[in-house]
This record gives sequence, C-alpha cells and structure tokens, in this order.
Amino acid sequence: MKNTHPQYPRLFTPLDLGFTTLKNRVIMGSMHTGLEEAKGGFDRMATYFAERAKGGVGLIVTGGVAPNIEGWVSPFSIKLSTNSEAKKHKVVTKAVHDAGGKICMQILHAGRYAYHPLCVAPSSIKAPINRFKPRALNNFGVKRTIRNYVRCARLAKKAGYDGIEIMGSEGYLINEFIAKKTNHRTDQWGGSYENRMRFPLEIIKQIREEVGKEFIIIYRLSMLDLVDEGSSWDEIVQLAQEVEKAGANIINTGIGWHEARVPTIATMVPRAGFAWVTKKLMGKVNIPLITTNRINMPEVAEKVLEEGCADMISMARPFLADPHFMAKAESGKTNQINTCIACNQACLDQIFKQQTASCLVNPKACREMIYSDDQASSKKRIAVVGAGPAGTSAAIYAAERGHEVDIFEGSNEIGGQFKLAKMIPGKEEFHETIRYFKQRIEDLNINLKLNTIITADELQAANYDEIVIASGVKPRSIKLEGVDHAKVLRYDEVISGKKPVGKSVAIIGAGGIGFDTAEFLAHHNHDLETVEEFSALWGIDQRLQHPGGLAKAVNEKAEREIYLLQRKDTKPGAGLGKTTGWIHRASLKKAGVTALAGVNYEKIDDEGLHITHKGESKVLKVDNVVLCAGQESVNYLHEELKEKGITSHLIGGALKAGEIDAKRAIEEGLKLAYSF
Ligand code: NAP
Ligand code: SF4
Repeated sequence: MKNTHPQYPRLFTPLDLGFTTLKNRVIMGSMHTGLEEAKGGFDRMATYFAERAKGGVGLIVTGGVAPNIEGWVSPFSIKLSTNSEAKKHKVVTKAVHDAGGKICMQILHAGRYAYHPLCVAPSSIKAPINRFKPRALNNFGVKRTIRNYVRCARLAKKAGYDGIEIMGSEGYLINEFIAKKTNHRTDQWGGSYENRMRFPLEIIKQIREEVGKEFIIIYRLSMLDLVDEGSSWDEIVQLAQEVEKAGANIINTGIGWHEARVPTIATMVPRAGFAWVTKKLMGKVNIPLITTNRINMPEVAEKVLEEGCADMISMARPFLADPHFMAKAESGKTNQINTCIACNQACLDQIFKQQTASCLVNPKACREMIYSDDQASSKKRIAVVGAGPAGTSAAIYAAERGHEVDIFEGSNEIGGQFKLAKMIPGKEEFHETIRYFKQRIEDLNINLKLNTIITADELQAANYDEIVIASGVKPRSIKLEGVDHAKVLRYDEVISGKKPVGKSVAIIGAGGIGFDTAEFLAHHNHDLETVEEFSALWGIDQRLQHPGGLAKAVNEKAEREIYLLQRKDTKPGAGLGKTTGWIHRASLKKAGVTALAGVNYEKIDDEGLHITHKGESKVLKVDNVVLCAGQESVNYLHEELKEKGITSHLIGGALKAGEIDAKRAIEEGLKLAYSF
C-alpha cells in the first residue's frame, strides 16, 4: 500500500490483513479503565471508545476481559462467558463501528495475579505482589480453561468485535505457563519448552478453529519478562513462530511482568525505550509485529517504524490524554496533541485505588458523557488570575464552551508549578503540557496577559461575569533556629537554578517535592538518558543473553552528598503514587541519597543542620539546607474581592495548598468551567 502522508508516511500506511484493512499503523492498546465494572459502564465505554475511533486510531483493543471467574483480575471484574454478557458489549462495538473504527476485545486471565481467593496458576506459587496463593490447575482444569478462552472468543465475535487480543504477557496466566519460574509442572503442560508453550498454542489453535479465518487474532507475547527464570530469547523467537503457525494474525509486544522491579512505562523510561526488543524479532515471523511502551508522539512512532523496529505501534495512555491524537497527526496539527506525560497519576494509580481511570492532562477521559462538547447556554466574560495548571485548565475549558476569557499571569510564562516540574530529571515531559496549553490558549483566542499582577480594583472595574482565582502556592517557611542562615534555600530557588547548591545538602521534607529536589540535585547535570544508559541503570540485558532479560544494574552515585529528611517515622515516599513511588525510592537509593525518617530538627548554623535521630544528636555538615516543607495558598485577591462584595472562585493550590498536585488542579479547572 502507498505511503501518502507527507510528515508521517509510515504511520499512515494502511495495513492489509487479507480479509480486513486497518487504516493506519496505530492501535489503541489495552488498558483497564474501571468503566468495565462501573454503573452504566458499557454506555460510558461506548462513548469513550467511539470518541477515540472518531479520532482516527486504526484499531482499538479493549481492557482485559476474563474468560471465567477464576481469571477475574479482582472480584466481580469484567468477564465474558455467557450470551447475556455478550449482549452488553454490543453497544460498544456498534458505537465504534458507527464512528468508523475497528475494535478487538482483549481476553485476560489474571492467573496468580488475580486478587481473590479463587485464583489459579500452572503451579501453586504465590506472586510477590499478591496476598492470595493460587491453586494449581489439574489437567482437566487446564483443558477447561482453554475451552473457556475459546468460548470467550466466540462470544466476542457474537458481540460484534472485529477480533480478539490474547493476553500472553505481563506475568498473567499464559505467561505463567510459559516461564520456568512459575511453571513447575511435570505433565504435558510443564517441563520442556514444548510442553510449557502448549497452553497458549492450544488456545490460539482452538480459537482460530472456532472463529474462522476472518477474525483478527492478536497475541500479546512477553518479549522481555524482566524477572529471573523468564524466557530466553531463543524461546521467545520459537514461541513467536509457533504463535504464527497456530493462527494469530498479529503479534503484540509485552514488556515486563507486573512484579518486575524495572520501570517499563513511567516517565523516566526514555521515549520508545523498549522498541529495540521488538526490532530483534522483526524478520523472524511473517505476520506484523506491534511495538509499545513510552511512544507518545507521532514523530516518535514514525521514527520507530522508519528504523524497522515494528510494523505497528501500540499506544494506550496517549489515547486517554488525547482521543484525537491520530486525526491531529494526520492533519499536520501535531502541536495540538495533548501529550501523555507518563505520570500514571490519574490512570493506573486510580485503578489501583479501585477508582475509574481518567487522565491528569485530560480529565474528561472516561467521563465523556459528563463533560460533553456542548457550548454553554449563555456566553460570559471570565477573568482567570494565574496561568498555572488550575488557571490554564479553567481558562481553556471555559473558552472551549464558548466563553470569552482573559487570563492574567504575574510571571513571563505560563505553567506555574509545571515550570519547576519540567526541570526534574525524568519529568521532562511536562514541557509538552506547557506547549499544549500555549497552543490551546492561542487557538481559542484566550486573552493572555503575562507579566501582569492584576489588582482587585482592576478586576472590579472590568466588571467580569465570573472571576477565577488560581494564584497557586508559595513555599512554606518553617520555624527553626537559623532558618534565615545564608545556607538555607527554598526548593524553587534550587530547581529554577536561581541559587547555586554546594557539594553536600540536607533536604527538609520528603514529600513529592522533597523527592523531586533530591532527584534534581542528584542528577541535574545529566543529559536526558539514552536507552542504553537507562538499560544499564536498571539492569536490562540489551544483548538478551540471560533468560528474562535481566543484567546486573549499575548504580550511578550522585556527585553530591544528599540527605532527605522527614519528621514522621513512616517510610519516606510512602505517599508517592502506587505505580511510581517505588521507582523514585529506588532511583534515589541508586544515587546514594540517605533518607532518614523520624528526624527532629534542632537548628541550622555555620556547621550545618543539627538534628536528633533515633535519640542521638547529630550534625549534618552540609553546605546547604533546602526547604521542601510543603506550601501555603496564595489567595489574597479572593479576600480583597470579598471585602468589596465581589464573589470569586478559588481553585487549585490557592483553594487548598495541602496535597495539591497537577491532577487535582487541572480537574478543578475543568469542573469550574463546566459550572459556568
Ligand atoms: P508534602 O507532600 O505535603 O510534603 C511536605 C513535607 O514537608 C513532608 O515530608 C512533611 O513531613 C514536611 N513538613 C511539613 N511541615 C513541616 C515543618 N513545619 N517543618 C519541617 N518539615 C515539615 O508537600 P510537597 O512535597 O510540597 O508536595 C506538594 C504536593 O505536590 C503533594 O500533594 C505532592 O503529592 C505533590 N507532588 C507530587 C509529586 C509526584 O511525583 N507525584 C511530585 C511533586 C509534588 P514531616 O511533617 O514528616 O516532616
Ligand atoms: Fe498519561 Fe498521566 Fe494521563 Fe495516565 S494520567 S494517561 S500517564 S498523562
């Protein structure tokens, strides 16, 4: 097929599968959103997926659906084993087809990761990330499970899906059969590699027989387990070839089991940081290969294809962030893409808290039925004070709804706390959010006034219909003898580079910003990591000589001596995100940062920071002490307006400084804008 697109020729080359054609080389990868189990979830999923289909993605894959109760990810999570369950899916498949898209359903049996007492596995070996020990399936149980997969595929076809994806990676049931680590069986399903591969191959063969030729079967194959006793590269190649013979149309890439202690999708993973794995399999099979992980912009995807790493690209979170990603890329409006920053804060972290997923940079995601594109009933004149995440979000959503918006920002650039966040090594993606915000402000004709400290009198004189105060936060000062000493710095002075920092530092406060500051001080002279450096740091065997793909990790000790301190006696960083906190803790450990909990601060003087720790008095002889002790709201305008009898709306850190983060700030901006 022809390459016609001027900018992304490979990305927009259709893919002919013989019986059906995908319009481009991008699939929206599988991701559980919690809509699957939510009230009215099928209607919400229909709207959510249809919006992405309208946005031009070549093929959508749903979140994982269990083939039976044992395979539930958690109690009562979605499964497909009956006709009545299949009926419910029809609204989803119809909505996607009506929007011009194609959709496959992922079949996922959670195996020993299933978070309930009915969980099963090839052998009764508990996963380190699950408190439930699985029951080993007997021979009859294995055969029944295969039949359940087949039934699930048949019902998916009946529900109108264009195909299925068989989840064979990430350490779930199929992967557990394949790897020696989790398969200690001695029957026909264990022992030799031929036996360990039998389970997935039987599933594919029997599904193909059941559904016929004209139905897409994608097999998600774990190409890099990142656990000990995982598959060797030769085994992976052999499996891929057998998967092709068994009847799959496409092979998708899986990277890392859930229990692996290597970051695979978080922000610090370099863009397209695992495309090299799929590339090694290119040419070994005759069916298309999909690559994945940390591909979040069209130019990255195009380059991956150009370098021959894969035939197709899978992106999951980028479609939460921007449903119209592909349409924007196709029309050359890449600058308008709302880029996934790989923070996991509103998607995976929320799922782990049993909440419905959304997206930090696009809080409309999964809530398309609540936040429609309808215009407001009457046009208002709105002033927004502060162009940080909360203010910019309120301004953008209000303007999208047809209001006339002025936004006032005291500094010379929009972004607020994002301007600091983007300086943190591994958080560079925040640049993209600022770029997107700027573009939206321009496209929506929002009147942005930089370097402007607007007063209450001026706001009153302008007679706005609504005034939004999003003036953010300022660092909290603390009461401590010597806090005015010249060696004491605020985190914003450090991260912005306004003040130099010496060779030894104590950080007071080990919250999100304390961790960020430690990361900044440990690594800030370091250029963005290459894939090779990243792999070496986290112990990824790029030569694939070891089964599971793990190598000895190198530590990268910081040139500075850094102490990260807190008064609480809990684990420092315990409040960080579920899916990323462990990475931040491990990263600082590798850099040799000393984290101390249960610290009492005594004073700061020329000698350093005097503390008591575990009943012992100590002096940390440091050049600098950096304060990361939380923030205080900046909301004086709200008070001044109130005195004049003018109502204003407080949002973001200006409303509540405690636990303010970008997720809350952007979401509050959205909610407020929809109330106008
Ligand atoms: P924070 O998480 O509330 O942490 C403040 C730290 O300061 C705590 O460690 C606290 O611990 C200490 N502290 C508070 N009052 C103190 C005092 N009077 N004297 C000495 N120490 C004091 O606030 P933050 O670090 O400023 O972060 C603000 C928000 O941004 C948070 O919601 C955070 O989650 C978010 N954020 C998130 C990330 C992320 O990666 N997800 C990154 C940056 C920021 P002790 O009281 O135990 O000493
Ligand atoms: Fe991406 Fe963060 Fe949105 Fe998740 S919440 S989709 S990681 S930007």
